[in-house]
Amino acid sequence: MTVNKTKAQAIAYMKTLKGKGWDFDGAFGWQCFDLSNMQWNYLTGGKLYGYYAKDIPFENNFNGLATVYKNTPSFLPEEGDIFVMDEKYGEGAGHTGTVWSANLNTFVGLEQNWYGGGRYKTEVAQLVTHTYDMNMYFIRPHYKAKASVVSKVKDKVFKPSTSKTKGKKILIASGHGYNDPGAVANGTNERDFIRKYIAPNVQKYLKQAGHTVDLYGGSKQDQNLYTDTAYGERLGDTKNYGMYWVKQQKYDIVVELHLDAASASATGGHVIISNQWPADKIDKDINNCLKATVGTIRGIDPRNDLLNANVSGRLNINYRLVEMGFITNKKDMNYLKKNYDKFSKELAGAINGKAIGGTSGGSKKAKQTKQTKWNWKGRFTPNTAIKVRTSPSINGKVVSNNVLSFTRVKTIKFNFIVKADGYWWISYTSKGKTYYSAICKITDNKEKVKNEKYWGKLKWNW
Ligand SMILES: [Zn+2]
Repeated sequence: MTVNKTKAQAIAYMKTLKGKGWDFDGAFGWQCFDLSNMQWNYLTGGKLYGYYAKDIPFENNFNGLATVYKNTPSFLPEEGDIFVMDEKYGEGAGHTGTVWSANLNTFVGLEQNWYGGGRYKTEVAQLVTHTYDMNMYFIRPHYKAKASVVSKVKDKVFKPSTSKTKGKKILIASGHGYNDPGAVANGTNERDFIRKYIAPNVQKYLKQAGHTVDLYGGSKQDQNLYTDTAYGERLGDTKNYGMYWVKQQKYDIVVELHLDAASASATGGHVIISNQWPADKIDKDINNCLKATVGTIRGIDPRNDLLNANVSGRLNINYRLVEMGFITNKKDMNYLKKNYDKFSKELAGAINGKAIGGTSGGSKKAKQTKQTKWNWKGRFTPNTAIKVRTSPSINGKVVSNNVLSFTRVKTIKFNFIVKADGYWWISYTSKGKTYYSAICKITDNKEKVKNEKYWGKLKWNW
């Protein structure tokens, strides 16, 4: 992103905004933030980030694009600067606009929603005179020295209603936040671990796949989706907070990330959805992703007792809560700590609907790996002495040369079969331990177990 307009162009553009209402993001009508975004989009082609107007100086990387000045008694804003006021304004949200003119005592802003008429589109962009205070910021774009023919040709008019990106609009919400760390165990807590290691990486990979991906609370993720939803409900405000705000933003996909907590032995993740809607492909793909990575403790879990899931069910938001394993389980956390990047990529692939490119990740490799295990049960009655091994391999340790004398049964009930080392193996348990025996050589050219001649009698299922 660069600023590809001169100061003269920027000011000329600003003047065209006066007297009309602008809804840059298609939400909440003509907010103050929308007008600053119109100006910024004209300058750079990009947008300003931040949940509230007051966040603009802190939620954006202005390196090479603009200088952010904090107000001082001797600071004089310039025409075209984007001004930002703190939480004393806008009922806590702050306020923003562009500087129309300024002296050391007051400045005039071109702005929307100063009087609260943005939401219902009754207050167009207009001039308002302000006095200064110390916590005001002025963002001065690094304008281009002079206009070139090329940049004039490149000028685009921003059309909120017709702008399209090929990807989806996705929100990743890290669970907990504010003063709530979530579950704490194994040297970390839910809030911080997810925000640091998982959410930004999931965002990175989804962006690679061409989606528009926001983190709830902006890049600092300094909000708590649950608390915000509850706050909105307390106020009776079903537009501006938490999941209600999420609904207004028209996200295609919302994923809230958590880590579970229980006794140290509980392990694996699971996907929680609202019981108002059936699991969709994303839920199923995430469930499969968990199975293939950290493991699952249960299948997709429809619930009616979780606030965000309930609101998602009521408002038909495409939402799920993902427990990515147990923070209280050493194995789960060691896995996530060691493999957070791979895990994030797999999770992003599940949200994306297919593995996200690159050869370093697990998704592609996993697809290339041929299946070697089938959860097919059956009964096997050997007609010859066959060996008992601790693993399905001709190198597996032999614990007996005759499975019948070892297990003291005539027919072995097996739990699954494995293809390895040119043989088909059955797996069974005896006195609580798992063992393997080869039941035939692989001779069928399609390698179908049902086409083979076994060293005994095989019946599927039990
Ligand atoms: Zn949690």
